[in-house]
Amino acid sequence: MKTKDLDLSHVLSSKPKGGVMYFLGQRALVIDARALGFLRKELINNLGLSVARNMLTRLGYAHGWLTADNLSSEYPELLEDPTCGPALHMLQGMVNAREFRANPIDDPVHNMTCIWEDSYEAEQHLIHIGISGEPVCWTLTGYVSGYISRMLGRETYCIEDKCRGKGDALCHIESRTREDWGNLIDDHLPFFKEETIDGVLKDVTARLRRSERRLSRFKRLFNGDVHPAGIIASSEAMRQVLDIARRAAKVDSSVIISGESGVGKELIARFIHDESARAGRPFVAVNCGAVTETLLESEFFGHAKGSFTGADSDRTGLFEAANGGTILLDEIGEMPPGMQMKLLRVLQEKAVRRVGENRSRPVDAKVIAATNRDLD
Ligand SMILES: [Zn+2]
Repeated sequence: MKTKDLDLSHVLSSKPKGGVMYFLGQRALVIDARALGFLRKELINNLGLSVARNMLTRLGYAHGWLTADNLSSEYPELLEDPTCGPALHMLQGMVNAREFRANPIDDPVHNMTCIWEDSYEAEQHLIHIGISGEPVCWTLTGYVSGYISRMLGRETYCIEDKCRGKGDALCHIESRTREDWGNLIDDHLPFFKEETIDGVLKDVTARLRRSERRLSRFKRLFNGDVHPAGIIASSEAMRQVLDIARRAAKVDSSVIISGESGVGKELIARFIHDESARAGRPFVAVNCGAVTETLLESEFFGHAKGSFTGADSDRTGLFEAANGGTILLDEIGEMPPGMQMKLLRVLQEKAVRRVGENRSRPVDAKVIAATNRDLD
């Protein structure tokens, strides 16, 4: 058998009345492309674009890998022919492959390029989701990756750079082994891996749990006027304070709370943290008045081992400890002006430099400053 002679009669078999159908000797289905389009839409709407892309890429990969594997049983001589993959892809009705170019299989740099016309996937994406900013032929590129990986017995990936689904006239793909892609494959690789789904689902579960916790706090707040942080909101003035705090929580900028000692500034800060998207991440509270001036910098920014007498190990500063969360700087008015300038720089640059180190480390912490003084 030669690839150019291959047609549906060689690969597809079924009883005239159907019931069971085979492609290359394995059970196959005829399914309306629009049904896959609906599935795609459901996946994107319910799980987000990354998970949907991940699942569909892996579905395509399994399909391509199995197709090559079935070919090796039915027509083993064709597995060596690089043009057979595109031919089978076409016989499965998924895409029209044109201008196929490939280096011979025994070439150490086996790569191939191809133009795709009539991609079923770009078509369905445009119908159900609309035009995309990125290529969308995820099952098809997954298929090529799986097929060639099985064919060569080497990890191989196919990347699409032009796509009908993002407004190009035709789709264009290139496939190379992992080594030949080098760093260029890094952004695409997660979509081929199982962990991506796990990671995103864990993240979704964690966010769901946080939302549930917040919901139950809200319920308690409305039922009993008592916030779990210990705030009793029975007076109109206190309700207004909480309302402002809640709004401050929704904006990811720094907040300053002023008020006399003992009015519960830390509770309000904690409330803002709990109501913000940073809830569940660290909340670090520090009383600036209680830290000795000589230790302030190391306390806030950390230090490198040996940077001063007594610094016998590396130390993480409070800003780094609050990374992703919130840091409360209580009694900020007690802080020396020089140190206040340094804090300002951290807020502007979103990075800290440990004492005794030359490099900056990025930090992302919401800063809440509290004071009992009138600050100018
Ligand atoms: Zn495409």
